[in-house]
Order: sequence, then C-alpha cells, then structure tokens
Amino acid sequence: MTEALQHTTYQPVTRTSLSAIPQVERLDRSLRETIEVVSAVFPFRTNAYVVDHLIDWDKVPDDPIYQLTFPQRGMLSDTDYRTVSSLIRRGAPAAELRATVNAIRLRHNPHPAGQLTHNVPELDGEPLPGLQHKYPETVLFFPSRGQTCHAYCSYCFRWAQFVGMPDLKFAAKEVDGLVRYLRVHPEVSDVLFTGGDPMIMKTRALREYIEPLLRPDLGHVQTIRIGTKALAYWPQRFVTDEDADDLLRLFEKIIRSGRHVAIMGHYSHPRELSTPVAQRAIARLRAIGCEIRMQAPIIRHVNDSARAWASLWRQGVKLGLVPYYMFVSRDTGPKNYFEVPLAESYTIFRKAYSQVSGLGRTVRGPVMSATPGKVLINGVTQIGGQRVFVLSFLQGRDPDWVKRPFFAHYDPAATWLFDLKPAFGAPEQFFDPDATYAPIWR
Ligand SMILES: *Cc1c(COP(=O)(O)O)cnc(C)c1O
Ligand code: SF4
Repeated sequence: MTEALQHTTYQPVTRTSLSAIPQVERLDRSLRETIEVVSAVFPFRTNAYVVDHLIDWDKVPDDPIYQLTFPQRGMLSDTDYRTVSSLIRRGAPAAELRATVNAIRLRHNPHPAGQLTHNVPELDGEPLPGLQHKYPETVLFFPSRGQTCHAYCSYCFRWAQFVGMPDLKFAAKEVDGLVRYLRVHPEVSDVLFTGGDPMIMKTRALREYIEPLLRPDLGHVQTIRIGTKALAYWPQRFVTDEDADDLLRLFEKIIRSGRHVAIMGHYSHPRELSTPVAQRAIARLRAIGCEIRMQAPIIRHVNDSARAWASLWRQGVKLGLVPYYMFVSRDTGPKNYFEVPLAESYTIFRKAYSQVSGLGRTVRGPVMSATPGKVLINGVTQIGGQRVFVLSFLQGRDPDWVKRPFFAHYDPAATWLFDLKPAFGAPEQFFDPDATYAPIWR
C-alpha cells in the first residue's frame, strides 16, 4: 500500500497532499496540472486501496477507475479551465480563487431536483431533517455522521449538499425522530441508510442508529438497507478494519431479530469485484445472511460499454450478488463529460442483458430517479410510423402510475426525462421538471 496514505484512509487527498501518491508524481506534467486545476473546483478524495489495487496506472488517463475517482480535464469547459489554471499559476489570493471556484460550481447545478429538500417528512408539524419519504414503503435516512465517502466518484456532486452540514454530535436526537416517525407509519417496510456512505461510520456510531430500529413495536420494519460504495472503495471495512467483526455482529443482530439486511452495493465496474479483499468482504457478509444487490449509474469513460456491464453482472452473480439497477446519472456536476444519452444507455443495457443468464436479469434499467418517480426506459420501438421511447414507472409519487407504459418521441440526444417530449398523449407533466404531479390516468 502507498505508505503515506496508509493512515489517512479517511482523510481526503487534497491538492497539497497529492504528492503523497507516488503514482501521481510519476504522471506527466499535463496530467498533474489537470488534477491540480480541476480538483480546485471539484474536490476529490481517494485512498490507498483505490490507488494501489483498482487503478491500472499503465492505462491512465483512460483507465476506468482513474476516470471514476480522479479529476479529469473534460470536467471543466476550456474557459473555466484556463481561468482557474491562470489563477493558480500566478498564486492568486485564496479569496479570489474561492470566489471564482464557487461561481463555477454554482453553474454546475450542485443541488439537483431538490434532493434533500423535497420529500422531507413532518411529525407533529415539525420537519424531520435527514429523512426522506417519497414512496410509501421505503424511508431514506441520511445519518449526519455518514455524509462523506471513502473516495469521491468524479461524477458525483452529492457531497456539495453536505458541505457545511452541521455534524450533529448526538445521533440519539436523529434516531429519536426516525423512530417516532416509523411508529406512526406502519406502511414503511424498508429503512434505507444512505449518504454519502453510511459505512464511513465506525460500528459504534452505526449501532446507535440501528439498534433502536429493532424494537418490537417497529415490527413492520422488515428490511434494513444500507447503500454503500465501501464494498468497492474500501472492502477492508468488512474484513480487516478494527471494528469489522463488530460490524458483522451488528448485522447478525438485525438478522436474528427476524429482519433482512440488504446491502445496496454501488459497483461501477467489474474490476471492483476482482481483488481478493473485495471478494472476501462479499463472502463474509453473505456467510452471516446479508444479501448484496448491485447498482450504479452508467457513466461515460467508466462503464459505457455492454462488455463492462455484462462482465459486472456475470462476476457479481458468480459471487452471489443480485444485479438490481442500472441508473442514468443525474443532471449535476460535470455532467457533460460523464453523461450517456438515454438511447445509447438503453442499447448498452439491452446488449449486456442479452448476454447474461436469467440470474443476472434481475437487473432493471436504464432507470432515471426523477422528481415524479423512478422512470424505466423499457425500449425504443416504432408505432404507427413513429419512433418512440417506451417508458414506465418502477416507483411513482402516486403508486397508481407504476407499471403503466407511456411514450415519448425518440430523441437520440436526450439525456434526461425533461429532454423528452410526450408522444401519443402521454401525461405531459411527467416530462416537466416543475410539475406538481396531480393524479392522472383516471
Ligand atoms: C430508489 C429509491 C427508493 C427505493 O426504491 P426501490 O425500488 O424499493 O429500491 C426509495 N426512495 C427513493 C427516493 C429512491 O430513489
Ligand atoms: S459513493 Fe455515492 S455519494 Fe459517494 S461519491 Fe460516489 S456517487 Fe457520490
């Protein structure tokens, strides 16, 4: 392992600590400059495992994991790149650099679709921050201490919404809100811990959040889901970290209470499944009865090929994982560099899907997690001489929308739901980012 990083696993590699990575020191000057300039705008974070075991440095900059975790030239426009680069080169005052960088960030939609402000539930007239309840059966919980990640995905701007978020020292208060909310919402069967990455937390902290959910009066909570990238970026969390065994014991305790532990593993590329420690982490979780499902967005330069997805699902099934979702990435951050049009995503999905056995075909995609719900691109077809996308809801704000096909004009360049135009009288408001979503199809 990279010596200098070994003890700083949970620390971001900042621009000044980049020299701690020998592989970066050996890159040519222009790549090093790119990292320095782009990371001033899009902070990045990595760790020794990603650097030493996942990235193939002979293939840099095209290596998919390098693209996934290191800042790339294409993430900034030429103008923005030149502006930031010249500020850094002439040693501009920190305040000036900060102002420029903030202006650029604001132009990159750091808070897409009101992620954390919509769907925040209330209890006795008080909003419960850290909770999101969009679909009746599932509550999302964002523990305040799980709001960062082991490494940042370069396409992700999620960290932006947590910067400056107060670090509540006492999980108890948050958990109290969650428990009181669940007690009066018997329709909730799933509690999904998300972030950031909840597995950034020590087991001790996680236990404070989870144990209160195992009370007998919360018997309707059947499944604890944990959304995590740690299986890919820091599988040591489940194997060699000092509290890895305690973590497994905590999961066992959930299972003994009669509940299901569903690990929603964020896997972007088959290489993330290839190392002995990654496979060991999976085996340990499965041995105690956790199920691991795989999900990730389709990202240009990282996994924009049927070969990568088919291999990911095949390797996953071999290790006992369940392929779950292929997402379309949201309209945020350096989107232009990473986006894959819906039509192309569908073609890649179809090609990959047709190459795996039925056990891999549990996967759904491509899926847009949009304001009205989770919209699935079922296909592209020709109806009455018109080329159309066939869409449907996997999850809807109104459960009555689910599983009803609707249509949009085919547009090979469209990258998100609101780029599409309804066809054959499809409900227009589904395509409108500002719609209020009254019930339809009556
Ligand atoms: C995806 C998602 C869920 C969970 O949906 P499932 O289809 O049950 O996996 C819950 N809440 C939100 C906001 C989501 O995006
Ligand atoms: S793991 Fe998820 S939240 Fe964390 S950086 Fe990657 S995409 Fe963002």
